[in-house]
Amino acid sequence: MSRFFQGIGTLLFFGCFLAVVVFTLQSRPWDDTEGPTQPGGPGWDPQPPQPSHAHPEPQPDRSIEERARAILNSTPLIDGHNDLAIFIRSEYKNNITSGRFVKEFEKGGMPLNVDLPRLRSGQVGGAFWSAFVGCPVNASYDMTDSNYATAVSHTTEQIDVLKRLQARYPDDFINILTKTASSTESEYMLDQWRSSSRKPMFGSLSIEGLHQVPPTAPMSTLRHYYELGVRMATLTWNCHNPFADASLVWNDYSEPPSVVNGVFRPKEGAVTAHGRRVLKEMNRLGMIIDISHTSYWTQKAVLSKDEDGPRITRAPVVFSHSSAYSICPHPRNVRDDLLDLVPESNSVVMVNFSPGFISCTSAPDHNLVSDGPRFSLPEYFEKNNTLHQVARHITYIGQRIGYDHVGLGSDFDGMGNETPRGLGGVDKFPDLVAELLRMGVSDEDMKKVVGGNVLRVWKDVEDISATMKDEGVEPGLDDASGF
Ligand SMILES: [Zn+2]
Repeated sequence: MSRFFQGIGTLLFFGCFLAVVVFTLQSRPWDDTEGPTQPGGPGWDPQPPQPSHAHPEPQPDRSIEERARAILNSTPLIDGHNDLAIFIRSEYKNNITSGRFVKEFEKGGMPLNVDLPRLRSGQVGGAFWSAFVGCPVNASYDMTDSNYATAVSHTTEQIDVLKRLQARYPDDFINILTKTASSTESEYMLDQWRSSSRKPMFGSLSIEGLHQVPPTAPMSTLRHYYELGVRMATLTWNCHNPFADASLVWNDYSEPPSVVNGVFRPKEGAVTAHGRRVLKEMNRLGMIIDISHTSYWTQKAVLSKDEDGPRITRAPVVFSHSSAYSICPHPRNVRDDLLDLVPESNSVVMVNFSPGFISCTSAPDHNLVSDGPRFSLPEYFEKNNTLHQVARHITYIGQRIGYDHVGLGSDFDGMGNETPRGLGGVDKFPDLVAELLRMGVSDEDMKKVVGGNVLRVWKDVEDISATMKDEGVEPGLDDASGF
């Protein structure tokens, strides 16, 4: 923490950051955990960043930085997961007209990783802006509407604050609900982005876990969320829910999360029968299924074909913010055998930048995936907490399964106050693109990574939705037994 406070010039500034630090250390309610430091293990990269000039498209007249800027000018950078909304809730109590918020958002200087000047200088083309709220206490075991009720009401507040923010800054966000042409929404957003010299950002929303819908009314609630602009839903956050199993369970926020890699519901499977019906409704609606945060077995169930039938999702899926397990063996990351399934469904893994997920060393029992319920978390390895390490995750996945299946899912504003060195906020995206070009990623592949791939998935999801509606698939029904 001492390093963190160096260079902070005023008490006011200190106060802002202290609030963030206290909040972050006390609750860290929006993402996972990391452990102490130790070298060695599969994530260990003893070499400092080694610039490579062996990229396949040498263009000697243009610097790497110029190429990076050109890529971000031609293809919108779509971040799979941005947690600005929960930070507005925690830091500004959702008051986006307060003098302090207006000043810091418009002029810059918001604590953590995001504000308008940094979004512009980072050439951010948009994000799935997460209307995140944490799991209810004991959500994995008490799956009643009453236990989930507060999470649902907070979700409507977080969707509302994102919509108010976008309405207040119409030149900066493309409102998905303004589409009138016959094109799909993803095509409409792309047209809007391309045709405006200001390059407004995609305003697509997401929710992060099906604890954000009532256990007995997921279908109708997801349809309402869709009407409000939600186009992606993660199946779990750090709790199991009636529909799918999570990779980590944070049952009580006074204790650290525990790892649950085993099958929580072996009889039903890691995606329950109820969950399978919800996935079908998401396919029908045109809502992207996100399997970040879910357990190994949930991911396997979603990505695999059934023995005598198709996958449980007709549309491709995303990992909106997950990195490579072979580089950092954290249960939030994607194991190699699952990475290998990703191309079969034309899906995408969007790499998370959070320090605890990019740089860690093995927990002694990390290879166990089926003998649950509790395993150790890996140890955080501070030395590799760098922009280069994030780039290593991206190139690892790109080289293993192809650059058609990698994207960016920063987790900015959701990782607390510690960020990878060189990648402290949304303004640093061009530096990451430049690093990947230095490591030999071609300009064409880079365009896919920054946004082309997730836009392809989104279009596929929209097309499957249209097909299902043409086939006459009716909206899924909730349990309507109550009075
Ligand atoms: Zn997350």
